[in-house]
Amino acid sequence: MPIRFYNSLSRMVEEFVPLQPGRVRLYTCGPTVYNYPHIGNLRTFLFEDLLKRWLLYRGYKVTHVMNLTDVDDKTIRNSLQQGMSLSDYTAIYKQAFFEDIKTLKVLPADHYPAATEYIPQMIEIIQYLLEKGHAYETEDGVYFKISTFPSYGKLAHLDTSTLKAAASGRLSADEYDKESVSDFALWKKWSPEDGDVKWPSPFGEGRPGWHIECSAMSLSLLGETLDIHCGGIDNLFPHHENEIAQSECYTGKPFVRYWLHATHLIVDGEKMSKSKGNFYTLRDLLAKGLSPRAIRYALITTHYRKPLNFTFDLVRQAESSLKRIDDFLFALRQVQKGGEPYAILHETFLSKKQAFEEAMDDDLNIAEAMGHLFEMIRAFYEHQNQATLANTQEMLAFFLSLEKVLGFIEKESVDILSAEEEALFQARLEAKKNKDYARADALREELLKRGIEVRDTPQGPVWKRL
Ligand code: AMP
Ligand code: ZN
Repeated sequence: MPIRFYNSLSRMVEEFVPLQPGRVRLYTCGPTVYNYPHIGNLRTFLFEDLLKRWLLYRGYKVTHVMNLTDVDDKTIRNSLQQGMSLSDYTAIYKQAFFEDIKTLKVLPADHYPAATEYIPQMIEIIQYLLEKGHAYETEDGVYFKISTFPSYGKLAHLDTSTLKAAASGRLSADEYDKESVSDFALWKKWSPEDGDVKWPSPFGEGRPGWHIECSAMSLSLLGETLDIHCGGIDNLFPHHENEIAQSECYTGKPFVRYWLHATHLIVDGEKMSKSKGNFYTLRDLLAKGLSPRAIRYALITTHYRKPLNFTFDLVRQAESSLKRIDDFLFALRQVQKGGEPYAILHETFLSKKQAFEEAMDDDLNIAEAMGHLFEMIRAFYEHQNQATLANTQEMLAFFLSLEKVLGFIEKESVDILSAEEEALFQARLEAKKNKDYARADALREELLKRGIEVRDTPQGPVWKRL
């Protein structure tokens, strides 16, 4: 079965067919760098990471762009409150964002464009929209005229009859809800609340609206039609709706083939908010002694379209699931028996591996996929005594490839010896059996020279790459 995704545009699960075979242009709305990312933001970034890793696992070449929103209503407001320049202020949170995603082992994007680096491209699009009558200038800015784009509302599935009634007004704020559907700001002329944040433009000094930023950056770096565009569900309206309107009026082409949105994270069953005291950044959780690995596991293993209720118990459960995986990998590496693979275990391995892959192909159903992994683990323990090296090597190789997808398997626990190293390891075992300790020691030295430390344990010898 091919990969399928739930497309917010059609509200259906669709087969994934990129514009160009084998190649995926992926755009994900990045952080607004006015504060530290909270664990809700991180849930969305981790879902996008899992998506990208799965596409890579399936052999796609992915070009991934994630923008940094470093100029908008919030960044300007906060930098002024702190008495800092916009660039000094946002630099702190850009760095914090990069630190956090590194801690959580998020694969880096190919490009991290900052909005302030793309002002000329934004101006060019706005000028074109003005020329074509899709935008108009007022005393305080340039607005997109939504009545000139008949399919406005197609992503958010807005009722067009109510739309017409509400569409008479205009709004300059970056964020608003569906009840306030209106013409939106492409350019905001300078006002004293903007401090010294302003750029020259043909329509007066000012700054871009938030929505035009993503249109300009995605167009510049990925072209006119993207394969996948992601964000959290709060981005769907008005941000993504407005991106579609601007981009499609500018290029005349479909903007995005598949829209994927992550459902919000809640904490202890409630919306995260500072006043409720349930607002967490990654730093808060690390300070409480939680491990990045367990946090990654906890945030990633719920299906991205299901609400994720974050609790400390969830992270404790993640720790114990990880321990189960670690123990299993350790047990796999203790098996020394040669010979044919034990058939029942081999068959179970193949069917669980396939079930894992099929679940992931099915709109990234990670929760089900993890279930298949744990069944594979259970099957191993059931047949542990009959398992041979042939069984364990295929399982280790699979878990090694899974590390690239999941990012929470410990690398060293899935490491496999090369044929030559394995021969030395086995020869040492043989020498010990024959009580030829001088030879056993020499072989241990030989392995050490190759960076492999061998230790004897009550369960038999184990090795570790140094
Ligand atoms: P922002 O920094 O606010 O621009 O958001 C960065 C990303 O986090 C966007 O894709 C948002 O949709 C997403 N996001 C914001 N709040 C949450 C939340 N509580 N749960 C999941 N994703 C969120
Ligand atoms: Zn965006």
